[in-house]
Amino acid sequence: MKLFLSVDMEGISGIVDTTYINPDAGNNYQRGRQFMTDDANAVIEAALEWGAKEIFVADSHNTMNNILWEALHPKARLLAGSPRDHSMVHGLDDSFDAALFIGYHTRQGVPGVLSHTMSNVIRNLYINGRVVGEFGFNAVFAGMYQVPVIMVSGDNLIAEEARDLIPGISTAVVKEAVSRTAAICLSREEATAELKQKTKAALSSLNQIAPLRMAQPLEMAIEFSHAGQAEMAAIVPGTRYEQETNTVIYTPADQQDMYKTMRAMLNLAGTAEFF
Ligand code: ZN
Repeated sequence: MKLFLSVDMEGISGIVDTTYINPDAGNNYQRGRQFMTDDANAVIEAALEWGAKEIFVADSHNTMNNILWEALHPKARLLAGSPRDHSMVHGLDDSFDAALFIGYHTRQGVPGVLSHTMSNVIRNLYINGRVVGEFGFNAVFAGMYQVPVIMVSGDNLIAEEARDLIPGISTAVVKEAVSRTAAICLSREEATAELKQKTKAALSSLNQIAPLRMAQPLEMAIEFSHAGQAEMAAIVPGTRYEQETNTVIYTPADQQDMYKTMRAMLNLAGTAEFF
């Protein structure tokens, strides 16, 4: 039993705003790193108790250097640092039995604690015409390797977003969204218990969760916030720019191409001046 944990930060227990997730934004960042490590450890401990043998943890937030390596469970392997070709799911391949997405958040344009999709340039991200956030995009990547995403943790709204895509997925709800930067948080003890219980439930029903499959070839469409960003993203060879919707469309050869091209488009779009 080999598990892949992608650990983001916005959906971690006790985290409600940017002071916890951005080292430049406030004095809660060091606490946020501890909370992130604690949530990961709760899932790792439960998975090992259940019988998992190998646990690969991908730090998946911002510069991907947030988890406190010295405090992470000794049985886990930690992928830290960036850049990485496949970012939040780098290292995930068909050798894994399942993936768990910890500390995730809702997509850009909907309510939920710290909702967004990948960076500040995306208005909407679509795969085969279906709008997805980071959860869905990464779940499609895993699905192409036949790896099911069996659990998500975060606020109550990412739980709904995940269930829409993957019926039966185990959801550890550690906070209830009040606004995009406010939440009612479970206590640390209760959040830890919720994470452990839902990890074991996920592993117990692993065979009932299908990998997320989408018809191939995939079509990736990114709607940008403004035309300047779309114009920059459309520099990527093979893309098609739909001017009336600020959308750039691409048909990736495979999931690796999908991820790398998305990153190239976002990086180019991020250089657009004027907003
Ligand atoms: Zn993040």
